Amino acid sequence: MTQARIRTRFAPSPTGFIHLGNIRSALYPWAFARANGGDFILRIEDTDLERSSQAAVDVILEGMAWLGLDPDEGPFYQMQRMDRYKAVLAELVAAGQVYPCYMGMAELDALRERQMASKEKPRYDGTWRPEPGKVLPPVPEGVKPVLRFRNPQGGVVAWDDKVKGRIEISNDELDDLVIARPDGTPTYNFCVVVDDIDMAITHVIRGDDHVNNTPRQINIFRALGKEPPVYAHLPTVLNEQGEKMSKRNGAKPVTQYRDEGYLPDAMVNYLARLGWSHGDDEIFSRAQFLQWFSLDHLGRSAAQFDEAKLRWVNAQHLKATDDDTLAALVAVQLRGRGIEADERLPRICALFKDRCDTTVVLAHWAAAFYVDVTPHADEMAQHVTDAIKPSLALLAQKLASCAWEKAAISGAIKEVLAAGGLKMPQLAMPVRVLVMGTAQTPSLDAVLELASREKVVACLQKA
Ligand code: GLU
Repeated sequence: MTQARIRTRFAPSPTGFIHLGNIRSALYPWAFARANGGDFILRIEDTDLERSSQAAVDVILEGMAWLGLDPDEGPFYQMQRMDRYKAVLAELVAAGQVYPCYMGMAELDALRERQMASKEKPRYDGTWRPEPGKVLPPVPEGVKPVLRFRNPQGGVVAWDDKVKGRIEISNDELDDLVIARPDGTPTYNFCVVVDDIDMAITHVIRGDDHVNNTPRQINIFRALGKEPPVYAHLPTVLNEQGEKMSKRNGAKPVTQYRDEGYLPDAMVNYLARLGWSHGDDEIFSRAQFLQWFSLDHLGRSAAQFDEAKLRWVNAQHLKATDDDTLAALVAVQLRGRGIEADERLPRICALFKDRCDTTVVLAHWAAAFYVDVTPHADEMAQHVTDAIKPSLALLAQKLASCAWEKAAISGAIKEVLAAGGLKMPQLAMPVRVLVMGTAQTPSLDAVLELASREKVVACLQKA
């Protein structure tokens, strides 16, 4: 038998801005589709009209585009598929798989209270479920019914979850789910199943907050004459405090990481490791990840977000990124600060990237080459002493006329050191403070070569 083409999906609800925990649920299905030459589908589950927003959709689309999690199909919007859901609902009605239920809220509440009082699990009791020979209550006047799904009775619903292993739920645990509201609009679990069928999804990879929906969804699949897909339910992502990551407790929208100077490949690397592993590998490229990814090494326990580790992963990727690519990213940030960079920028990135963990930090260094810096007052006091000022003036003089390249600059520095009987740090530290604003920089001749002669000479003369 030939294996069906692999098709996965990411099905976010645009209620609140997606954070790293959510986007990980996009990364794995994307990677699984890519790793297997399949298709990745984006579906926006926007049926909660009150809580869904276009701004949240935008963050989803922007975040995915930034991370390179490109869908092959979609975005599909559930609100635009209502007619389709209603048509499938009509099929289920015709097949006798759903029935109208007229039990009102007050009655349902009373039922729940009775069940709780006698220590039973609250569930719909099947009052309106038609059975051969059963007499249903009289239909109340003026009440619009909900439609309930005839859940199978007896037996179990079972699946081999790719993360959690075999799960079996007794059908008697599941009551008859409402699948259409009194106004005829279909409910969540039903829409998901219709979509997963229509979109020919073979693998549902999603957060384990949906594991309770799965047996219900599987029963709806079967009622529609379809076999359910393979399921992989991912454990939660915890924030640094060990709570479930959520917008309410401070999780940032994914796009904020872009603005904070993280690289998409580093994010993919970090998120991949947040719930999946390949031996001891911590740093890997996107291509390696796709080569290695399978559903067999997904972690079973909750993963905890660790910003320090994310920064470290980003630093490793930053070091490995070529200078032109970095320069393009840094140029955008500089432009945001009103600075137009020039052809020096790739070399500036090359010189500083080893000491930066985000492109924001890198842009901060780069800016010092284009605008005047304000040296730290205590570093000024410590390094730019009266005793060194004559040497700084001499250096300014020599740098004003030497060739502007590293060897000549280095030669000028050495001449000044010799003339004053100085050691390198005695001169290099104050020059760094004056030109770059801080005493901690890469080697002085390399830094000066990238700064403009005018700027360097002016800074030294000011001292
Ligand atoms: N819309 C659901 C959510 O955002 C996901 C549903 C699914 O993946 O089946 O949690």
